[in-house]
Amino acid sequence: MVGLHATVRERRGDCLSNRLSDLEPWLQPWARWLWSLWPSAQVTSTRRTRLEQIRLYEAFRAGTSRFPAAPPGLSLHEYGRAFDLVAEPQILEQLGRVWEQVGGRWGGAVDPIHFEA
Ligand SMILES: [Zn+2]
Repeated sequence: MVGLHATVRERRGDCLSNRLSDLEPWLQPWARWLWSLWPSAQVTSTRRTRLEQIRLYEAFRAGTSRFPAAPPGLSLHEYGRAFDLVAEPQILEQLGRVWEQVGGRWGGAVDPIHFEA
């Protein structure tokens, strides 16, 4: 990774992909459509490697992460079928309802930033 993007990610202390183009091709238009409803929402994570999921899961089990993480192999992030959006809680709730209406699954109260299909 080079340039500004790398700098921003390093400052955040992680290297997770936040590119919607890393999602499965069939999911990309749906994810872009949902994000377009509230473009100020930040995409913080899309596809993850197994190693990234292991690290997130360990942080979750150690109690040092803000949001839950599924055990390695069980997160749809590893299969390009999940993305995380950060916005105000009431915005996430509305986006979650919309996402569920079109057949997606939302993390709800437990994991409000998480959207998958
Ligand atoms: Zn997620």
